[in-house]
Amino acid sequence: MQASPGKMRTPFKLDELEPTAEITIGFKQVTELSWRQKLSLDACTDCGRCEVSCPAFAAGTPLSPRMVVQKLKGELWRVYGRGEEAKDVVASGLIEEDEVWACTTCAACVEACPVLISPFEYLLEIRRALTLEGRLDRRKSGMLTNLSRVFNPYGLSPAERESFLRELREMGVKLVSENPGAEYLYWIGCASHYDARSREIVKSMVKILQAAGISFAILGDEELCTGDPARRMGEEGRYQELALTNIETFNRHNIRKILVHCPHCFNTFKNEYPDLGGRYEVVHHTQLIGELLRTGRLKLRKKLGGKLTLHDSCYLGRVNGIVEEPRDIIGEAVETGSFVEMKRNRRNSFCCGAGGANYWYEVKRRDRESVLRLNEALETGAGTMVVECPYCMQMFGDAARIADAEDKIKIRDIAEVVAECI
Ligand code: SF4
Ligand code: SF4
Repeated sequence: MQASPGKMRTPFKLDELEPTAEITIGFKQVTELSWRQKLSLDACTDCGRCEVSCPAFAAGTPLSPRMVVQKLKGELWRVYGRGEEAKDVVASGLIEEDEVWACTTCAACVEACPVLISPFEYLLEIRRALTLEGRLDRRKSGMLTNLSRVFNPYGLSPAERESFLRELREMGVKLVSENPGAEYLYWIGCASHYDARSREIVKSMVKILQAAGISFAILGDEELCTGDPARRMGEEGRYQELALTNIETFNRHNIRKILVHCPHCFNTFKNEYPDLGGRYEVVHHTQLIGELLRTGRLKLRKKLGGKLTLHDSCYLGRVNGIVEEPRDIIGEAVETGSFVEMKRNRRNSFCCGAGGANYWYEVKRRDRESVLRLNEALETGAGTMVVECPYCMQMFGDAARIADAEDKIKIRDIAEVVAECI
């Protein structure tokens, strides 16, 4: 199983595989699980805490992590207790495909489980088996094709980001080839390369880095997707192709420190690239901004008024434990008493619904996780919901439109809040 919620097991190394090697990945039958995985299922007490915390369950998708674990446990008993033949858990209808795909990999179930079971890790392993057999709908296979064809999940031509890169160059941003001694590689990420709203995060970060005198550079055309959406969709080969190409690029430019504002890129570089030989100091923008404010390298000229609340991104807070840094930053940037917590916060935050590659496809559902969470933000009376992830920003921007709440609450990245105070 996974070593931690942010690190998927690496089942093979693409660059070490023999050309004729037969790849088996994921599981179709419970007999393929390790003894540790089987014992973990057997430990489930059916307490339901994972179900209560699961955003996919709250949104009325077919997924309940409790039911997934209980169904697999039942299958285990049928096979090993009664000696009956093992079934393909999906083809037999025991686990619905939409249950498998509804998981946002938010790890709330892991956090909630009193006996340390990771329900979502079974779902990710089933995804791997489904993907290996090509059991993907048009949107999922389309996203994977985009990653092969143009190296980004949006399927947009790299030419689409030229004008944005030109704009950054006009702001004085240099490429790593022009500034080889730069302290940080600033990794922009696919969302902020291609989504107009997310590009504002980058512009704010550039303003902050320049104000603090930080030496940084970007990769420009050499930046490809980290591969995270492919890996979470179960396509390990596509993930490793992208990861190995990025690692080669980092090593060619002698990159040591990587600054990111996307928690998914952060998690992949920090927790998953080391398995493929890519070891770097990875810094999320909340960590760097926090340090710049603490050490006085960045000074704010003004404080913002109005009520703000903060949405902790799953891959930053729960998965990587970064929860105090954004609060410290907001504490510096707003008037005393302006910040208000949502009822679910820090490691107990509630997913926006985009993780685990869910941003790229739809499953049947009653509600949207993003709208449920936006309503929690609205309950605080805050006029601004601060985020720390470009996908959360897009999800809540859409949620505000769906809920007709755009005039009640603004969605802003933490870098935008800080940049306004410089
Ligand atoms: S990882 Fe999140 S979405 Fe997936 S089963 Fe667990 S709680 Fe539900
Ligand atoms: S929280 Fe753990 S023990 Fe409780 S139902 Fe979920 S998987 Fe089983």
